[in-house]
Amino acid sequence: MPLFDYHCTTCDARFEVLARSTDRIRCPSCQGAEVDRLLSVPAQPRRASATPREATSGLTPPSGCCGGGCGLN
Ligand SMILES: [Zn+2]
Repeated sequence: MPLFDYHCTTCDARFEVLARSTDRIRCPSCQGAEVDRLLSVPAQPRRASATPREATSGLTPPSGCCGGGCGLN
């Protein structure tokens, strides 16, 4: 599933959001809504966390997301 890189203009944080959750992106650091989507995302060697930590809730649908607190920080 593709991820989009976002940059928070409030606290200068950078985070990733799933492509489908484009409704209202909020910064996981400061909860601010002033974020910019970074379209040009080169192959970053940051895929160490390929498995999100959403296995704690047991059965997790592939299209489901908790909407923010699923280990995207
Ligand atoms: Zn922020």
